[in-house]
Amino acid sequence: MRFSQYHFVDEIKNNLEKLGFKKPTDIQYKCIPNILRGEDLLAVAQTGTGKTAAFAIPILHILHSKINTKREDGIKCIVMVPTRELAIQIHEVFQILGKNTRVQAFSVFGGVEQGPQIAKLEKGIDILITTPGRLFDLRHQGFIKLNRVEMLVLDEADHMLDLGFIKDIRDLIQYLPRKRQTLFFSATIDDEIKDLAYSLVKNPVRIQVSPKDPVSKNVDHSVVFVAMDDKRFFLERLVKENPESKILVFVRTKVRCERVQAAMDRVGVSSVFMHGGKDQQDRMDVLNTFKLGNVKMLIATDVSARGIDIPDVDFVVNYDLPEHPENYVHRVGRTGRGRKKGLAYAFCDDAERDLLKAIEDYISKPVKILELHTDGYKEITNFSITKNLTLKDIIAELEPQPNKRYGVKKAKKK
Ligand code: ADP
Ligand code: MG
Repeated sequence: MRFSQYHFVDEIKNNLEKLGFKKPTDIQYKCIPNILRGEDLLAVAQTGTGKTAAFAIPILHILHSKINTKREDGIKCIVMVPTRELAIQIHEVFQILGKNTRVQAFSVFGGVEQGPQIAKLEKGIDILITTPGRLFDLRHQGFIKLNRVEMLVLDEADHMLDLGFIKDIRDLIQYLPRKRQTLFFSATIDDEIKDLAYSLVKNPVRIQVSPKDPVSKNVDHSVVFVAMDDKRFFLERLVKENPESKILVFVRTKVRCERVQAAMDRVGVSSVFMHGGKDQQDRMDVLNTFKLGNVKMLIATDVSARGIDIPDVDFVVNYDLPEHPENYVHRVGRTGRGRKKGLAYAFCDDAERDLLKAIEDYISKPVKILELHTDGYKEITNFSITKNLTLKDIIAELEPQPNKRYGVKKAKKK
């Protein structure tokens, strides 16, 4: 089915056409009718499959049809997201898809002055995209009224219902009308969080579009065993062999961001880095620089793992393995978005083998191992003064060996 066959208002159809979106993705095809019918939804679909438009299109359609020339007071839809960057990105999607409609979307988040946000809120908006903290503050100060909210969306829902945020979400829900539509979206969700999601909605949740393998099918991901101190040589080699490629490197901490940047600097590779400790303007500048491709390497912590849609990331490198296995899925999901293909490498030190095992349990399959040929390892670590073998020459793809080194266990989580 094509978007042109849907009964959306013309403005939305035109916007979809301008964007070049002809057909809905699977998740969009499956969710849109249910959302239009007013049902609650728990939607799980792989990274990069268009979950944002899956909720944005029907929400815009519903609200546009309801809002007459006279705007009624109050916000009608709240979209909760974990990071400021994601709030801005989703706001943009609403703006693009909602251009020329009667619907006004706006985003608020911490780390910047409240004043301009309050001024805009006072003019009246329909959809608010927000991080929990800033919403909480603004509501507390009386700048946000929630009594007319008809729809609540939790994007990255498992994360939003996790320890760090659940208290804010519960507090928020108290202020929302009981009669409302609640939508949960994520690429990963486990049973515990699913139960929690069910407990927050009055109507039973209607749909779950859950892939067996949570890793995006567009991402070819593998692991190479590298000693911690040698990881930088492997990264250097990857960059130098792919000078035109955009590489997103994930590390564990902000100190590691700085260290890896320094190591790259020493070998003449420019990079930018981003972590939760940077101020908001800095974070936006860094992200834009990388988005535009002015600098080809972004080194980041998990603050950038979820939801961020950067065009044309060629490689994701798990320079440090993630501590939470679901973040592996989100990190590698920064590449291979939409119809694009992507490559992801994990650099695994011996001390990180338990983390790798946890990831494999989580995704219910072994991660493909890249084995180094004899002397290959040395060849890479001596790279700066070395011969002409390519990374490909040096590493061979081994088929995963189920039940051998990494036994396939039934996953507890998905
Ligand atoms: P997810 O939230 O599932 O990770 P996003 O909503 O960020 O994915 O979308 C991923 C990419 O796919 C975006 O760049 C978006 O513009 C593109 N996209 C979404 N829907 C469609 C569609 N129907 N046709 C073509 N591209 C799409
Ligand atoms: Mg998303």
